[in-house]
Amino acid sequence: MSLIITDECINCDVCEPECPNEAIYQGEEIYEIDKDKCTECVGHYDEPQCQQVCPVDCIPLDEDNPETHDELVIKYEKLTGNKFEG
Ligand code: SF4
Ligand code: SF4
Repeated sequence: MSLIITDECINCDVCEPECPNEAIYQGEEIYEIDKDKCTECVGHYDEPQCQQVCPVDCIPLDEDNPETHDELVIKYEKLTGNKFEG
């Protein structure tokens, strides 16, 4: 599933450049994640990079958008044009 940024976000700008899929963007009030581009970092890293860097720990999994690992792999391949090598 994709991740979601909660309203605890302090707009520190740290996560946006860390996303390998360019899924994070400045929304109207806080940063937001484009669920169509977030792969939980599958295909790029072992752990979600945004979660690793967020100083206030406000990027949980979005339970409303469940996706299997296989679905995330397909998403990664569509987004990047690369073959998944897991
Ligand atoms: Fe981007 Fe990875 Fe965070 Fe998803 S989990 S928003 S792909 S950094
Ligand atoms: Fe907001 Fe966390 Fe991203 Fe900073 S790292 S902009 S607090 S979501």
